Amino acid sequence: MSKSDDEAARLHRSTADACNWGSAFDVVVVGGGSAGIGVTASLLRRWPALRIAVIEPSDKHYYQPAWTLVGGGAYDAELTVRRMADVMPEHAEWIHAQASAFDPKNNLVVLADGRKIGYRQLIVCPGIRLASHTWSLVQYYLMWRILCHR
Ligand SMILES: Cc1cc2nc3c(=O)[nH]c(=O)nc-3n(C[C@H](O)[C@H](O)[C@H](O)COP(=O)(O)OP(=O)(O)OC[C@H]3O[C@@H](n4cnc5c(N)ncnc54)[C@H](O)[C@@H]3O)c2cc1C
Repeated sequence: MSKSDDEAARLHRSTADACNWGSAFDVVVVGGGSAGIGVTASLLRRWPALRIAVIEPSDKHYYQPAWTLVGGGAYDAELTVRRMADVMPEHAEWIHAQASAFDPKNNLVVLADGRKIGYRQLIVCPGIRLASHTWSLVQYYLMWRILCHR
């Protein structure tokens, strides 16, 4: 057996283990942005039998990487917005809700409505949000770096 066959067999075993884990999902993905949709599609392409849930409250999916082009006038902003239902990979279960807490000891994600979703593997990609003081922090660190380089 070649090294790549060994690796494929190992991955197959770990996937099979993941698929035999009670009523929890094999994989729960928090966030249906580019990262969440991309990783879900990629996993399902490799292992179609995986039970994957994507926790995402928004009806819309924003393709942010194109926003630089929008800002430069080279791309239409409307084309960066899609219906979440249209980008959700087939066979993934869309849990249309917001994740509000994690309970890693019990492998659970707690939703804003109180429901708890069990997982075997958890992928967290809710994006980032700029805090109101982010720009002043960036300026502070830039200044600090410039001073150090002198
Ligand atoms: C103006 C701009 C220009 C950019 N230009 C480029 C570029 O040219 N090239 C490039 O490669 N990248 C670019 N990027 C970066 C790229 O867009 C991001 O890295 C990428 O979109 C991040 O994807 P993400 O899925 O991690 O986050 P997001 O796309 O932000 O998605 C996060 C998702 O998580 C959901 N979510 C948030 N909180 C919760 C919660 N509590 N429970 C459940 N779901 C939740 C949100 O509703 C959202 O759908 C740009 C970004 C911006 C803002």
